[in-house]
Amino acid sequence: MSAAQAATVSHHLLRRLREIVSQSTLSAQEKLDHIVRIIAQEYGADMCSVYIMRAGAALELFATHGLRPQAVHRTFIKIGKGVVGDVVENARPLVLSDIRLHPRFYLDPQMGEEELQSFMGTPLSRGGRVLGALVVQDKRKRLYQNEDVETLQTVAMVLAEMIVAGELVKPDELLFSNSDGPTPTVLKGVVLNAGLALGRAVLHHPFVPVKRLINDDAERELHRLYEAIAKMRASLRVMFAESDSLGTTESKEVLETYQMFAQDRGWLNRIRKGIEGGLTAEAAVQKTLSDLRFRIGQSHDAYFRERLWDFEDLTNRLLQQLVGNDNAPIKNADEGVIVVARTLGPAELLDYEKHHVVGLILEEGLHNAHVSIVARALRIPVISRTNQALTKVESGDLILMDASKGEVILSPSEEQIELHSARQRKQEERRTFARKEADLPIVTKDGVPIQLSLNAGSLLDLESLKEAHLASVGLYRTEIPFMLESSFPDVEAQVRLYQDIFQAAGDSVITFRTLDIGGDKLLPYLRAPEDSNPLLGWRAIRIGLDRPIILRQQIRALLQASNGRPFRLMFPMLSSLDEFLSAKAIFMNEKERALSQGHTLSDTLQVGAMVEVPSFAWSLPDGFGQMDFISVGSNDLFQFFFASDRTNPNMIGRYDNLSRSFLTLLKRIFSYCDEAGLPYSLCGEMAGKPLEALVLMAMGLRHFSVSPHALDPIKRMIRSTSLEKLSQYVTYLLANNVSNLRHTVHAFALDHGILLEEY
Ligand code: PEP
Ligand code: MG
Repeated sequence: MSAAQAATVSHHLLRRLREIVSQSTLSAQEKLDHIVRIIAQEYGADMCSVYIMRAGAALELFATHGLRPQAVHRTFIKIGKGVVGDVVENARPLVLSDIRLHPRFYLDPQMGEEELQSFMGTPLSRGGRVLGALVVQDKRKRLYQNEDVETLQTVAMVLAEMIVAGELVKPDELLFSNSDGPTPTVLKGVVLNAGLALGRAVLHHPFVPVKRLINDDAERELHRLYEAIAKMRASLRVMFAESDSLGTTESKEVLETYQMFAQDRGWLNRIRKGIEGGLTAEAAVQKTLSDLRFRIGQSHDAYFRERLWDFEDLTNRLLQQLVGNDNAPIKNADEGVIVVARTLGPAELLDYEKHHVVGLILEEGLHNAHVSIVARALRIPVISRTNQALTKVESGDLILMDASKGEVILSPSEEQIELHSARQRKQEERRTFARKEADLPIVTKDGVPIQLSLNAGSLLDLESLKEAHLASVGLYRTEIPFMLESSFPDVEAQVRLYQDIFQAAGDSVITFRTLDIGGDKLLPYLRAPEDSNPLLGWRAIRIGLDRPIILRQQIRALLQASNGRPFRLMFPMLSSLDEFLSAKAIFMNEKERALSQGHTLSDTLQVGAMVEVPSFAWSLPDGFGQMDFISVGSNDLFQFFFASDRTNPNMIGRYDNLSRSFLTLLKRIFSYCDEAGLPYSLCGEMAGKPLEALVLMAMGLRHFSVSPHALDPIKRMIRSTSLEKLSQYVTYLLANNVSNLRHTVHAFALDHGILLEEY
């Protein structure tokens, strides 16, 4: 079929589809039966069938022309099985001149498909969700052309919209609106903030539903398209003009992408082709996006995926110009809202906050991203890196988040909701109780005092100091405010920043960590060489020592802001003692400079080291006498010990921080420090997990620094533990080749009434 013929066939087919759908005397099934017959006729094919997704990941034959009529509603194909199952599983069209050569081919004797040879199938999808499949087959060996596939995709798109609108399939027969309730689906992600939440989904950049699909006048639609493009360009220009003054790289990137697409003739041509094939401008724009999704959506290449996201953003803007902003408004403020976004800025999250946000799901997002920090301060559970959350969730869907396990449950069952409510009630009771106990001393049952400090990265986090009656911040991640800036803050700006922190912390002593940038924490305004292995590359103290001006200015600003108050300073990602000594020399110089300039400094300022790299752990004994304290950054130490990227979702759960090998390294560090009388603490996430903290306490750790959400559970664990017997038990396990302590210590805790709930 030539391109011109294809456009005519497509146009013709869509018109006939519309006629059939508008016949009120026909039932949904009769309409679908007519439609498959017409599609087969237009293609001159022997068979056309429609399959619809049913519960249990199965496709049901819903209508056919060419297969045995008795097979309709009696034939089910498992997703991933058979050639049709393959089309649905991979969510992309498939063309075969001989179906028998496909590795998944099998013959279903009840369908009457023995003589069929060539195959062309495409998913029926809407908003990235696959609802079923549309298939055309021939007895001849025939190779369908690109134009044929394009036309079939256009028809499939229109069919999918009609199906969702309830015009071709009874709504209660659709999986997503099944009267038995849809099947719960679980998406896995990375926990950025633990907790539970139940709420209705709100998509940050929602799928814009297209209601008018088939055009009456192609010329008019083309005109509408050009007008919408012009408006979109104008609104983008305004946006760029505004963001240009901020000078952020992000806005420049969007601008570049926009320019790329604006000049992309291929993109416009595809839309134009869709209109010429009978679609409205909005339907053609949406179809072009789904084609692109099929083509690059499966790619594992981050660059292509990012381009796809940019493209989705722009498509959305164009659709909003064409059909208006159809975002589902947030209706019921009593019902919690779970925001689903690719990424989200902290200000945007705060904007949603007035709508009673109870959870946040991000497709991207790192632990230290500023939005997670704000979310943590607001006690909103956050799960990130959820595969395809945006395409699988629709606005208004009920979602249950179990952010302690990193699970997002779509369409949860009654039992799951009931279980969730019970756990939430318990959590609330515990919080009330914790508030009452906030000022009690933090000691074990047998009277051993434990120092508990706070990990913070923002002023919001510091509010927990007062709430929990804490006297110290064990880790202040100074890079977080830098990540919110659009250019490198000079000394004066940094002084103001640290003054605010000192003020918010009151009398609590703060341990500031110098900038831990690089790796996964990039500053948009700091040019850095491309690292093929960023977590092992130019980051943290390595940048501070190579560009000493950065470290010097930060220390200068901290000393000035302190204005006589005590504080502690530590350096991240040290690999050798020399690095610590060089960084400390910069501190000493700055201290002298500050004193010579008349600044008031406390005489109890302390300088310490973070132990985050195994090589540094083994260098510790050489450095005693040089350091005032150390803090173990177990997050990084763990990733380097096991050579396991902490930002990679595939690494989750692969190695255990309660394995004897890792604990032996920690024990070595604690023993070095005990022997030398050097104060030590641990500020990685491990310190905030009750079972892990219990083991560490048994191994001799007495100072834990934890994120705000972990304060109550850790206090509860400490107050319910008698250390003596536990320490003996853990010492025994470590000495006796037990490869992992998790289950044994957990069992011990249960037997001895130690409270280990995480929240
Ligand atoms: C760590 O690595 O354990 C740590 C506390 O630092 P961060 O998580 O900020 O890398
Ligand atoms: Mg670290």
